[in-house]
Amino acid sequence: SYILAIESSCDDTSCAILKNNQVLSNVTAAQAIHEQYGGVVPELASRAHQSNIVPTVDVAIKNAGIDKNELTAIAFTKGPGLMGSLLVGTSFAKSLALSLNIPLIDVHHMQAHILAHFIDHGQRVPEFPFLGVTISGGHTQIVRVTDYHKMEVIGTTQDDAIGEAFDKSGKLMGLGYPAGPQIDKLAQLGNPSAFEFPIPKAPGLNFSFSGFKTAVLYFLQKEKSKNPNFVEENLADLCASIQHTLIKILFKKLEKAVKETGIKRVAIGGGVSANSGIRTALQAKQQQGWDIFIPPFEYTTDNAAMIGISAYFKYLNQEFCGLDVSAAPRLSM
Ligand code: ATP
Ligand code: FE
Repeated sequence: SYILAIESSCDDTSCAILKNNQVLSNVTAAQAIHEQYGGVVPELASRAHQSNIVPTVDVAIKNAGIDKNELTAIAFTKGPGLMGSLLVGTSFAKSLALSLNIPLIDVHHMQAHILAHFIDHGQRVPEFPFLGVTISGGHTQIVRVTDYHKMEVIGTTQDDAIGEAFDKSGKLMGLGYPAGPQIDKLAQLGNPSAFEFPIPKAPGLNFSFSGFKTAVLYFLQKEKSKNPNFVEENLADLCASIQHTLIKILFKKLEKAVKETGIKRVAIGGGVSANSGIRTALQAKQQQGWDIFIPPFEYTTDNAAMIGISAYFKYLNQEFCGLDVSAAPRLSM
């Protein structure tokens, strides 16, 4: 099969072409416009998708070296995400499927972050069942995965996502959006035990990050009142300590989930799975018998290749959707 996949759930317009489980092209147009606002502005995102989608799809087809008429299905992100953004991808996918007279496949964005592990690039793939851990800008979930599209969320955040915790802490320190990658870089130069932040409580396998952000806010206010240059003088140590605490919050529940389910196979996904501290901490778990799956960087943040691989498994089962399908900003697993 040749599947053309479109991802437009947030601020990146992405298009990929997959030949079966292999990626022929994966093109993403990022939107720099949001940087100056310190976060994604939905109105602007939707407008940027509208101007990016045609060239992005064209380049993806060109890079794949195939002809449009060779395509066997069109896939798109149905949700969850921003309504205005999802609508652009959804309507574009529909009209393309209609004009080429080929099936349309709807994909769940968070399932796709997990299924990115099945993109074939010569690596091992997780066997079922495994624990999918989606750590991104909008989600923090522990998911029991028993089949390609059989996923059960067994733990989730009650407030902010871990990516937001990175981004908001970074904003408090004057870092640009998204701050996650910058904190990651600076943390490598700092001392993770320099400052201590509290671990918020949450029941069961659930997470809470909003209390953490508030703790960082108060801590910085207090220190800055004593020394106005506190952040500048301690930036690397602050980043290392913040990242260290966020990893601790994540792993506390991850360890609990492994213990409770007896599943030691763990596959991370989502933008925050690019974090080097998380990758190192996870690799260390292999000594305790965990079987770890870490996606390549290009498949961590939003990308259409992961939408394509999710669609491929639906394609094999002939699971298509009608042209009356609609975008769903809130879509459960
Ligand atoms: P969702 O998938 O929940 O809808 P999203 O699609 O906006 O949210 P992603 O693109 O998967 O989120 O991830 C973006 C997030 O990943 C941002 O919060 C960003 O700061 C974070 N991120 C990216 N790289 C790193 C890194 N190296 N360390 C920490 N965070 C990172
Ligand atoms: Fe995402």
